[in-house]
Amino acid sequence: MALKIFVDFDGTITKRDVGNAFFRKYVGQAAYDEMLREYKDERISAQECFRKGIVAIATLNRDEAVTFVRSQEIDPSFKEFLDYCRKKDLEFHIVSDGLDFYIDEILAANGIAGVSIFANNLRLIPVDGRAECDLQIDFPYADAECRRCASCKRNIMLTHSGDEDLIAYVGEGYSDQCPVQYADIVFAKDALQTYCQRENISYYLYDSFRDVVERLDVLLAKKRLRKRLAAEMKRKEIFMREP
Ligand SMILES: [Mg+2]
Repeated sequence: MALKIFVDFDGTITKRDVGNAFFRKYVGQAAYDEMLREYKDERISAQECFRKGIVAIATLNRDEAVTFVRSQEIDPSFKEFLDYCRKKDLEFHIVSDGLDFYIDEILAANGIAGVSIFANNLRLIPVDGRAECDLQIDFPYADAECRRCASCKRNIMLTHSGDEDLIAYVGEGYSDQCPVQYADIVFAKDALQTYCQRENISYYLYDSFRDVVERLDVLLAKKRLRKRLAAEMKRKEIFMREP
C-alpha cells in the first residue's frame, strides 16, 4: 500500500488565494466580483468564469505580471514538507483549480523544482515579440459533466491512485470540498474545516505544513494505515459508473 498525497495550491501552499488576487488586479475588483457572483450563483461554469476573466484582461505585460505573482508568499514550512515527502519516498502532487502560470513562477521564485502539478493552463503569447502578451487558456483536466471546477481534482486523484493506495489530501477552500470526499486522510483548515464538520468527514486540523509533517510522521509510524470507509465507497461508486 502506498500513501499518495494531493495538495491544493491557493491558500494552502500560498498564504492567500493568488488566483483571486491575480484576477482582481488585472480585471478590476468590481468586474471580477461580479464574475465570481455569477459563478457562485451557478449562472456560469468555472471555465466560463475563467474565460470571462481572460477576455476582460485582454493583454498582459509579462514582466509586470511575473513580478506580481513572484511576490506572493508561501507557507515557509512547505519546503520541509517537500523534503519529508522526498525522504520518505511519498508520491506528492499539487492539484489546483488555479493557473499553472503563477504556480510555476511562485515555486521557481522559492527555489522549488521537480514537483508534479495539475492545474489550468494559461499561456502568455508575446505580441510582436514585446513584453505585452495575449492570453490563451486551456482546461486539460476538466470533467466532461461537472461545471463547478475547471480542473477536476477528484479525477486527477483517482487516475493517479489505485485500489491499494491510501489518499491524503491537504486543502482549505471551495475547490477542495469535492476531492476530500474521496480522500482517506484529510488535512483541513478555514472554510474546508467547516465543510468537513458539516459533512461529517473526519479531518486533521492544520495551520502550516509543519503540522502536516508531524501528523504524517505519527500516522506512518503506525503498523497499519486505514482507509476511510466513506471515501472508499465514494471511490467505488465512481468506478462502477465508468463504462
Ligand atoms: Mg485553495
